[in-house]
Amino acid sequence: TQVRRLGDLVRRGQQLAALGEMAAGVAHEIRNPLNSIRGFVELLQEKTQGEDRRYMQIVVEEVDRINHIVEGLLHFARQQGITLEGMDLAPVLVRAMALVAAAAEKKHVRLKGAWPDAFRVTGNAAKLQQVFLNLVQNALEAVPQGGDISVTASPAQDGSASGWAVRISDNGCGIGEEDMQKLFTPFFTRKEKGTGLGLAICHKILEAHAGRIEVESQIGEGTTFIVWLPEA
Ligand code: ADP
Ligand code: MG
Repeated sequence: TQVRRLGDLVRRGQQLAALGEMAAGVAHEIRNPLNSIRGFVELLQEKTQGEDRRYMQIVVEEVDRINHIVEGLLHFARQQGITLEGMDLAPVLVRAMALVAAAAEKKHVRLKGAWPDAFRVTGNAAKLQQVFLNLVQNALEAVPQGGDISVTASPAQDGSASGWAVRISDNGCGIGEEDMQKLFTPFFTRKEKGTGLGLAICHKILEAHAGRIEVESQIGEGTTFIVWLPEA
């Protein structure tokens, strides 16, 4: 089992690296023609009525969807060579939660945060913001109306290294055993409009931090993602 897990890890790492390189090259090239298509269809739309106009609207919406995926790929590719510094993680968590607060309220979801006044990690604030936003966003998508999400932090060792464990817990749908291995693989999604890049990006960013991301989940009970980061 251990050997297989190592093999899986190596394969995942190679997949991520190969995809990152490819994404950097291709995503950028796709964006310009896509935006031309969008622009011209919008122009045509103004000159068209009825059913044809509706079809063109669908073209515009689908182009937006491709753009969304391409943006995700570009983000994914941009994780190399990020700069790390001693930083306070609390404001990053506050901001990530603030960004989903309106959507959470709409769904009557309780968002709770509890962490020490100042806890410092070695990291890149913008990238970590992306990590925690992705995780809180996923939690929000997983919980039912009136669900609960909490973000907590406590000191934790990783081997001999001291750091912090941040837990993002939800009482949502949970994750099936068969999905656990695929979660961090690019494009794995169970959502109709998902990109499957959120967790792959989190994994890549945390790799660049010498951090870790782990998951505990029980179908129908909920999910906890645990992010470990080295202290500053
Ligand atoms: P996306 O959100 O676009 O589907 P992610 O990489 O963010 O892509 O997540 C991949 C998949 O992992 C999701 O489609 C979902 O099936 C599962 N997942 C992630 N977070 C949670 C969670 N908190 N609860 C249940 N399932 C989750
Ligand atoms: Mg997501």
